[in-house]
Amino acid sequence: MPATITRREQNKTAITGIPKELAVKAGSRLEPAPLDPEQVIIDLTPSPKTLPSLENFGFGENKTDHMLVCTYDSITGWAAPEIKPYGPLSLDPASSCLQYATSVFEGMKAYLGPDGEIRLFRPELNMQRLANSAARVALPQFDQDALLTLIKRLVTVDARWIPAAPGYSLYLRPTMIGTRSAFGVTPSDSAILYVVCAPAGPYFRSGVKPISLLAGGEGVRAWPGGTGGHKVASNYSPGFVPQIAAAKQGYDQILWLFGDDRRVTEAGAMNFFIVVKREDDENEIDIITPPLDGTILPGITRSSCISLLQSHSTDELTLSHIPSSHRIHVHERILTMPEIAKWYSQGRVLEAFTVGTGVVVAPVGKIGFEGLEIVFPKYVENGGFGPVTKGIMERLLDIQFGRREWKGWSVRCD
Ligand SMILES: *Cc1c(COP(=O)(O)O)cnc(C)c1O
Repeated sequence: MPATITRREQNKTAITGIPKELAVKAGSRLEPAPLDPEQVIIDLTPSPKTLPSLENFGFGENKTDHMLVCTYDSITGWAAPEIKPYGPLSLDPASSCLQYATSVFEGMKAYLGPDGEIRLFRPELNMQRLANSAARVALPQFDQDALLTLIKRLVTVDARWIPAAPGYSLYLRPTMIGTRSAFGVTPSDSAILYVVCAPAGPYFRSGVKPISLLAGGEGVRAWPGGTGGHKVASNYSPGFVPQIAAAKQGYDQILWLFGDDRRVTEAGAMNFFIVVKREDDENEIDIITPPLDGTILPGITRSSCISLLQSHSTDELTLSHIPSSHRIHVHERILTMPEIAKWYSQGRVLEAFTVGTGVVVAPVGKIGFEGLEIVFPKYVENGGFGPVTKGIMERLLDIQFGRREWKGWSVRCD
């Protein structure tokens, strides 16, 4: 693409040695270039990899043949995007992302439908959230539609990697990192935005197993005014030690709590829901998830579950498995462990489940809290699923794989 190269060369010559401020003062009309899918340079690998067999899928262990790489510089803006063979990035050891964790990411999936079409699930929300995460750590903004167009292009290039087996998909990991290489503790004025893909199997290999949660554990995941509401890399590694401690006690994940009132926030890196029946009327069912107060990651699965559950039993939709006598009320509100313990002692806790792109929906089998074990024995025989958990999971999968249309949530890749 000679046109692309010419333009980049021009920008470089024009600004050689002249700081942006001076260039602007001198009346230069140089504007940082926007991210532009039309300029994409596609360099296909000469040696495509052998596809792994379905049994050998870990979570993100096998990467596809290609990756999307877009570089940003505060003066020239976004360079021509590249789709090129998957491989290492070359970074200065002093890079801002390595020193100051200017690193944000997304998690999304491409699904192959029974009609042979590839779809993304509400991908514009991933673009929006990536932009919000980038803004939180002063990384550059980008044209969200342009990035989505480029991602669709990448997925199309690596389409043969999307397994055609039920429950399988292609996991996409858009990432943005700061590449400024001076030690000053300041925002990064250069960045790389890249997307890599890995085929993903069902989260539960040998059938669904309800997960166990240790409420509390050591440390907190997020706090008011912090970064818990953004997908920034620095949120995750501090959770590894508490996670190891919880695993030693036999729990799968931590149910992160916050504050003296032991507020429930999230489970591992998933959003949390609990299903409770009312004292005075067994058919009035409250489904509660913590509110987006800045300590909760605004999950796309979370928001989709809320919206589907709110639409249940309307003219528009009826979720399977949920008894027709149930009247469902969804609440985004503060939820504390003492409250859950009280409802449990009253026999009112029906189900709990966690949600996220990776897992989709996982039933909770047990919550440990200060010596108390809250167990959900009723559904253990039933694959661990209560009716609400099962109903919402099936509907989400149907929409994601394009088996059912719902509000344009599933977007075709072409
Ligand atoms: C990504 C993530 C989620 C789930 O978000 P989805 O958009 O549903 O995948 C929940 N909690 C945390 C901490 C996360 O990082």
